[in-house]
Order: sequence, then C-alpha cells, then structure tokens
Amino acid sequence: MVPQRPDGFRGVFRADPLACAVYSEAAGVGRAIPRAVAVPADEDDLGTLVRWAARTGHPLIPRGSGSSMAGGAIGDGVIVDLARFDRVGAVDPHRRTLTVGAAVLRDRLEAVANAAGFTFPVDPSSGAFATIGGMCATHAAGSRTVRYGPLREWIAGVQCVFADGTQAWVRRGNPTPALPILEQAAQRLLPQVRAAAIETLRHEGVRKESSGYALAAYHASGDPIDLLLGSEGTLAVITAVEVRLVPRPGAAAVLLAGFATLEAAAAAAVGLAAEGASAVELLDRTFLEIAASEGATLPVAPTCEAVLLVEVEGAEGAGAQGEAARLATWCGAAGAAPVVLPTAAGEREALWQLRHAASPILARLAPHWESLQLIEDGCVPPEHFATYVRGVREALARAGCRGVIFGHAGDAHAHVNVLADLTDPAWRARCEQVLTEVTALVARLGGTVAGEHGDGRLRTPLLAQVWPAAARTLFAAVKATFDPAGILNPGVKVPVPGARALETMKVDPALPALPAAAREALDAITRERGWARHRLDLIPAAP
Ligand SMILES: Cc1cc2nc3c(=O)[nH]c(=O)nc-3n(C[C@H](O)[C@H](O)[C@H](O)COP(=O)(O)OP(=O)(O)OC[C@H]3O[C@@H](n4cnc5c(N)ncnc54)[C@H](O)[C@@H]3O)c2cc1C
Repeated sequence: MVPQRPDGFRGVFRADPLACAVYSEAAGVGRAIPRAVAVPADEDDLGTLVRWAARTGHPLIPRGSGSSMAGGAIGDGVIVDLARFDRVGAVDPHRRTLTVGAAVLRDRLEAVANAAGFTFPVDPSSGAFATIGGMCATHAAGSRTVRYGPLREWIAGVQCVFADGTQAWVRRGNPTPALPILEQAAQRLLPQVRAAAIETLRHEGVRKESSGYALAAYHASGDPIDLLLGSEGTLAVITAVEVRLVPRPGAAAVLLAGFATLEAAAAAAVGLAAEGASAVELLDRTFLEIAASEGATLPVAPTCEAVLLVEVEGAEGAGAQGEAARLATWCGAAGAAPVVLPTAAGEREALWQLRHAASPILARLAPHWESLQLIEDGCVPPEHFATYVRGVREALARAGCRGVIFGHAGDAHAHVNVLADLTDPAWRARCEQVLTEVTALVARLGGTVAGEHGDGRLRTPLLAQVWPAAARTLFAAVKATFDPAGILNPGVKVPVPGARALETMKVDPALPALPAAAREALDAITRERGWARHRLDLIPAAP
C-alpha cells in the first residue's frame, strides 16, 4: 500500500520508485524497498509523522547515513531520513560537553571538539560519514574503544521523539522526564528487569556489546538512556545528542607487527590491550593480498598471516614514541616479525589509512567476487579470541569460502567479510552455512554476535541462539513499553515471526534491477567509500 503524504507534515515526503530505490540499501548485505521516504523538518514535524504512523500502521525506519551493516536502516516501511537535524552547538569547556543534532557526522563533531582542545573518544572507521544519531542507535565503537570503552559512557543525554509523538531530553542521572512512556518504564519495566538474574542479561566478559537492549546497564543505573542507546530506532527517534569530551592526548605513536599465524596475532592483540595500547587493529593475510593487488603500498610484505596495527597515546615528546618502542619489544618477544616502528607523522598516517581503507578496498573487488558482511561483528571474551578466529577460519574452509578477518582485535572483536563467488550456484548455501556455524561458535564461547554494529534485520532472527529466554522475554517487554503499536523499526531487536537472517541480499543476481538512476548513485558512492549514503539529493526531484 503506497502511503499518502501525512496531513500537516512540512518536510519532504516521497513515495516514487526512484526515491524508494535509493533508500533500499545500506552498507550491509540486505535490500528492502521501503514504502516511502520522509525527511522531517524539525522535532514537531517528526511528532506529526509518528502520530500519523500510529494511526495508519505504516512502520517508521529512522535513518542517519545508512552506513550500518546489519540491515537496521532498511525495511518495509517509511524511511525517516534525519538529515535536517544537523545543528552544531558550542563546546562547554567546563562541563566538557558538546550538543549536536542527530544528523551531524562524527568527524564534524570531532573537528568542533578539536578546535576547543578536546576529543570525542568514540572513533568508528566510518567517522567521516556516520551520524552521531546512528552511532547512538547502534551503540557504536571504534579503534580507541580499547582505551576509552564504547559509546555508552560518552553520551550525557539524547533528545528523543517517542512512539506516541511526545518529545524530551533524556539525560543520565537526571530525574526522568514526566512522559507517559518513561513513567511506565520506571514503574513497570524497571522492576521486571531488576527481578531478573543479572547474568542472564549480559554476555559476561565481552568488552563491547550492541546486541539486544542494554538490560544489564539499565538494571544497574535505572536510567532509560541506557535502553535508548543501542536501541536501533526501535524505541524512539533520536534528534539531538549531548556528548562528553576529554582533553586531546598530547601525542600518539603507532607500530605495526606481523605474525606467522592468525591465532598468534589474536593472542598478542589481547595482551597489547592489557599492556595499555589505545588501539589494536588486525588485518589478515587475505586482506593484505587484496590490498596489494589493488595497488596499496604495504609496510610489510603480504607474507605474514596477520598484522596488528597498534597505537599508544602519551605525553608530547618522547612519551608516546618511547611507549611504542616498549610495545614493539613486547611484540618481538611474542613472536612478531617484522615489527615496524615509524617515526614520521606521514608514515603513521599511512598505516591508519590502510586500516581505514579495508572496507572500501573490499567493496571494489572484481565483478563477481562480492565481499559480504555476514558474520561481521562477533566479539568474545578476550581469553577465547584466538579460538574464535581459528573457528571462523575453519568454518569458512568447511563451507568452501574465502574470507577476510580484520578489526578491533584489542577488544577481542573481529569483522569477517565472506568473499562470495556469485557465479557459483551454491554461493548462497555456503553463506548460510558459515553464518549458522559461526553463530553457534559465538554462542559456545559466550560471546555476542554484535560488538558494535547492532542486530538489525540480519541478526535479530538469530538472537534465540545467543540470548537466553529470560533476556528475550524482557526485550519484548521493553519494546511493548516504548512502542506498544510496533511502529518503530519492527523486526529489529525483537523478531517478527518467519523472518530469516539472509532474507534478501542485494547481490543476489535473481533480484529485480533497481531503477538505473538509483543504481548509479548507489554504486558510485559504494565504490568510493565502501558504503552507500542514500540521499534524496543524489537523484532527480519527484515528478
Ligand atoms: C567502511 C565502514 C566502516 C565502519 N566502521 C565502524 C566502526 O569502526 N565502528 C562502528 O561502530 N561502526 C562502524 N561502521 C558501521 C556504521 O558506520 C555504524 O553502525 C554507524 O553508527 C551507523 O551510523 P549511520 O548514521 O550510518 O546510521 P544508519 O545506518 O542510518 O542507522 C543505523 C541504525 O540506527 C538507527 N538510527 C539511525 N539514526 C537514528 C536516530 N537518529 N534515531 C534513532 N535511530 C536511528 C537506524 O534505524 C538503524 O537501525 C562502519 C561502516 C562502514 C561502511
């Protein structure tokens, strides 16, 4: 059913095939043609849209940049493009905070913070194009999470429009605003959560978590902000964010260490985090080979099975460099060879560029090889990380697939892209096999399927395998409290009956083609950045 423009809605509203096609994909593997696209003008306009959705039953799917991997920003509903919420406030140097609109890109926020001598320590590789609203919604993390922890503690407050059209700032530690939904949560939901055994509400020992709702954090704090962070647009739409800042570190130094086996690199990564590294990123041999064949200049020959890129922060002058030299010696003792310790800023930057180029390089593989983000966010207790990466390699081999393993190894967290040969008739079955086996592996090791990217439509159908029934019952209770009519991103966090993990994959040659103008816009930007930002300004105006 094609929705009609809501009465009184002042923003852009398009339901034509071209607009819908441009928002049918995000950075991950899924595709779903939405019913329409709405770009609300402000909070009140968003309230109008939400009340219309409740009346008509059209689901709303909030969207920042669409850089998320798990299919939470696509779906059968009205995409709510939050692009207009792009105000940037001023840094408050005393409180060390900065308030920005939800659509502000992370690196823009960082530039404002830097100009005042501060930094926002949550630094996803996608910082140039991910919005702060999307980061809050996915409970994003980044390379420096090893030192600073994930997003939760860096968010002081979020301004939200709720499923009944009401709006409020929800701040940590502040009295809960007097809204019916939040009062209901305090009176009925919180006691239910606190009655549950805490060990059923978390994956003990993982350093990052963005699967499910953050019940363990809510259990501890009683603050509704803990449920809203990481809720993937299923509980409320975030319109502005107050972030916490820290003073910029004096200096940073990096080193690169090559390892003869993936397991040795994984074990060393966890050790380096304990030694005080501020970032420990892994790139495996498959990636290094692909990068070399794409013309990237590598600091080591692509003969090691894996390399670790390690960063340390410290005082100006010799502090950080001296600390990097100490960790280089530590790596040597752990069996690394070679160990590269650059001293020039340009060389350090080149190492980081190689890491940040991982997804874009993989997105440009030869026509029928596709790099698929299927099992891309597993995070396990650090003591099991080496077992995890070995198990992933074995699962890939059993399914007859190649795969690239890279990511935030210091947090025992790896992204795995399956390289699928789409000319092989069994490619889909192979992908399903890898997904099934690796999900079982994560569950066996007590890990989470989503360290930082959220569940989306990709992983929500798998939650029964990694969360106990007690937690899943409470996930449903959280959803029913905040969104009883189920209009906010249904099918994410709480599964809908019959949904499958790999429902519609955008690379499936059997899918009908998208309109050419939409396809061109999506492909161009995907090639450039490894992700597709889908905006109405990429395509002609509606007829
Ligand atoms: C090359 C590349 C590298 C990446 N590296 C990292 C990394 O290092 N760390 C990391 O954590 N992630 C990384 N990501 C994933 C992605 O960038 C993050 O998940 C990011 O937080 C998503 O932001 P977005 O604005 O694109 O959100 P979207 O993709 O638009 O949305 C993500 C989810 O949040 C919901 N949502 C979005 N905005 C709002 C809002 N204002 N209110 C309520 N719900 C909302 C959506 O419904 C959806 O469920 C990477 C992605 C790519 C393509």
